[in-house]
Amino acid sequence: MSKVIAVTNQKGGVGKTTTSVNLSAALAYMGKKVLLIDIDPQANATQGLGIDRLSLEYTIYDAITQQMPIREIRIPSGVDNLDIVPANIDLAGVEIELSQVKSGREQRLKGALGDLRNQYDYVIIDCPPALGLLNTNALTAADSVLIPVQCEYYALEGLTQLLNTILLTQKVFNENLTIEGVLLTMLDARTNLGVEVSQEVRKYFREKVYDVVIPRNIKLSEAPSEGLNIFDYDAHSEGAKSYAKLAKEVVKRNGRK
Ligand code: ADP
Ligand code: MG
Repeated sequence: MSKVIAVTNQKGGVGKTTTSVNLSAALAYMGKKVLLIDIDPQANATQGLGIDRLSLEYTIYDAITQQMPIREIRIPSGVDNLDIVPANIDLAGVEIELSQVKSGREQRLKGALGDLRNQYDYVIIDCPPALGLLNTNALTAADSVLIPVQCEYYALEGLTQLLNTILLTQKVFNENLTIEGVLLTMLDARTNLGVEVSQEVRKYFREKVYDVVIPRNIKLSEAPSEGLNIFDYDAHSEGAKSYAKLAKEVVKRNGRK
């Protein structure tokens, strides 16, 4: 059984890409077969894994615009067990390009992924910071959503809108979509604020919130500039330890050893 998880939050800078890349790598290092799909025009996950932009023959853009099968687009990431479907800036034009298409615009990713999902234990989708067509494609192709929430003021702001989008997607395109989990990110343990925010988020989302909280950790922000996931950059960092814990929780919730 494969699981397709969209990492989503329309707010930018909350840790979607950091979580997508490092959760994918952690699962791959546990021996799971993982496909990471980058569906953000900023292509941060692609770059963060050190994929050479100029070497790309095809990208997620071809899947969304031409329905090119993901099978033909995915490439090895350099990490064992981890493949990636890269993105680039071409994706920025997709909303306009598909504005005349009347039906099926939202199912492009699901269609392009098809049965290939069954070759993987986990398919992780790194979503863009907007609730547009690309995000809807991700939520339509997904089994569940993982929502990173940054431990800061206004953490809950915008989540109502996100939950409404999830409900709407369930109604119209994907009735089986569930909430995989809520992940608290960038906790600064030196401040009370982070603790207060995490309590507030737990009160609201209860057992959906993962036990592990990702701390603010400089290594996590340095790794992408070296084109590395956190385990290859600094396996002993707090960032690496916390993403390894997250991967274990994800596997446990999905009832697998
Ligand atoms: P999003 O994809 O939601 O926009 P990112 O994952 O790109 O967010 O994170 C935003 C910025 O914060 C990036 O520069 C990233 O390196 C940094 N960052 C993310 N998580 C952490 C963390 N736990 N500790 C320190 N920096 C982080
Ligand atoms: Mg991102």
